[in-house]
Amino acid sequence: MKSAFIHSDEFSKFKVSKEYPWLTERSDVTYNKCKELRLLDHDWIEVVQSKPASIKDLYLYHTKEYIDLLKKADKGFFDESMLRYGLGTLECPVAKGVFKYHNLAAGATIAGANLLVRGGKDIVFSPTGGFHHAGPDFASGFCYINDINIAINKLLKMGKRILYIDIDAHHSDMVQEAFYSNPDVMKISFHESGKTLFPWKTGFENEIGKGKGKGYNINFPLPENTGDEEFLWAFERVFPPVARAFKADITFAVIGVDIISSDPLAHLQVTNNAFIKAVKIIKQASAKLLALGCGGYLLDNIERSWTLAWAAMNDLEPKEEDAATFGGMFWGDGLSSLLDRPLFLPDNIKKMTKKEIKRVYQYIASNIFPILGIK
Ligand SMILES: [Zn+2]
Repeated sequence: MKSAFIHSDEFSKFKVSKEYPWLTERSDVTYNKCKELRLLDHDWIEVVQSKPASIKDLYLYHTKEYIDLLKKADKGFFDESMLRYGLGTLECPVAKGVFKYHNLAAGATIAGANLLVRGGKDIVFSPTGGFHHAGPDFASGFCYINDINIAINKLLKMGKRILYIDIDAHHSDMVQEAFYSNPDVMKISFHESGKTLFPWKTGFENEIGKGKGKGYNINFPLPENTGDEEFLWAFERVFPPVARAFKADITFAVIGVDIISSDPLAHLQVTNNAFIKAVKIIKQASAKLLALGCGGYLLDNIERSWTLAWAAMNDLEPKEEDAATFGGMFWGDGLSSLLDRPLFLPDNIKKMTKKEIKRVYQYIASNIFPILGIK
């Protein structure tokens, strides 16, 4: 196994304001914690410096008109006409260096895809990536450049089949939109239901793809207050059989940590114990894996959970006996302290979420599994 961690000190230099929820230190804190815990010091691991994407690559998904506007926005230039492109809103403000930041993130994801195809790597992680809400000519939900769609389009040109799995709390609306009728991209998104969370209008289970892509789009909307047990119940029933049936060349895993209970933007009750289990299942099911950070609005969750994710991707983990000894009771130095404490959820809440999750699972099992040949 060979793996790469993509990093750049440049990411955290971009700052919109103290109040802006998107934390540009996400790569720094993950990289530093991994370094501190010696999770980068192995002969199969390479740390790769991110470089900006080329303009040509940006056009694999975005319009020239929009990219030109983003470049203007980069200088801090704003006029009202930008609003129709989603620029200058509270979530996607115009700020000095905004193009540079998002273009560097796109460059990291593209480099990750290249490392898997031509660079001999099996696993790549880029914490600043996974901007799944950006459209061809608009910014949305903290996302300006859709690094995912650009990289997928690049790989499709090489004839690759892509499995896209997204466990960020928000629905991956623009990835769904871009490949809705494409059977070469199997899209699976677990997220908090649009009934209670952005992007509101999409991400429901009956959006299953169209034309040749029918059956290649799976949405698993989770009710608010979904906990570890219910999340894993759903994840283990849907993801592994679909991954086995689809046989992708490359898996894209968008591992946002806003599904974690303490996240200020979403309303799920998952801990990073279940999050890590999902990451391990994804790793096991993937021939080649490109993991992207995506959302998460507490730096502490980002640091602990993505460090654990990187450890899991590299089969570096606390020994079973340590976990048993400490049992989540002792939070000392090292990997065991990175795990969340288990969370207690009242029975009536569990009952409600279980019922809804079973209903969604039944829908997917009856309407999508037969198309994919899953019994
Ligand atoms: Zn999110």
